[in-house]
Amino acid sequence: MYDDDAPVPRCVICPRQLLDHESGRFICLPCEHRIDGDLRQLAGPAGLYARLCLRIGRGQRGSGPAVSGTPGCPMPPNEDVLSLTSNGGMVSKLEAWVDDWAERGYATRGTGGRLQYRVDEAIRTLRLNLSRAASRHPALKDFSREVYQMRATAESIITGEKKPIPIPVICPCGTITSITLNSDGFECRNCGAKYGHQAAMHLPMAERRAA
Ligand SMILES: [Zn+2]
Ligand SMILES: [Zn+2]
Repeated sequence: MYDDDAPVPRCVICPRQLLDHESGRFICLPCEHRIDGDLRQLAGPAGLYARLCLRIGRGQRGSGPAVSGTPGCPMPPNEDVLSLTSNGGMVSKLEAWVDDWAERGYATRGTGGRLQYRVDEAIRTLRLNLSRAASRHPALKDFSREVYQMRATAESIITGEKKPIPIPVICPCGTITSITLNSDGFECRNCGAKYGHQAAMHLPMAERRAA
């Protein structure tokens, strides 16, 4: 008999109610597709990670005024890009998730190698196993957030965007507020709940509108 009082299963990332074909999963299919899309953007020779590495190459050569003087293309402080692209940056974050998933039997640890190769291998196994993790891994919300932040940070550096990329978060009352990685916090305009930076970053994320 169907129990009407049973709590409705919801996606742990967005508040969407899980549909019949999503039963037994932690996250909804749209959230899975969004994570997969973020991972895909980061990987490969034309991906965000590779493009960040290219910026270092350009910065280090410091070649002539033609490049440094290009208007509308401000060079970010190289240390930011370096810390993101070096060992301990994005690659290590991704590999930490691979280790975590591998222990649960749904990812394969890479064999090392060049940083770009390690990034691509980590993303390959994470994407390959994402559907399985969606039904079994309780920390997918943290994973989703980290992957999104990597993508957003890399994109903002590459596009030279001065304005931080907005992250739409959902208050338990259902109101969506846009914050950024630098937000001090906010007060919900609907229910008045106050969130500090940490609390705000831990609210569920609403789906980002397609760019
Ligand atoms: Zn969802
Ligand atoms: Zn609220």
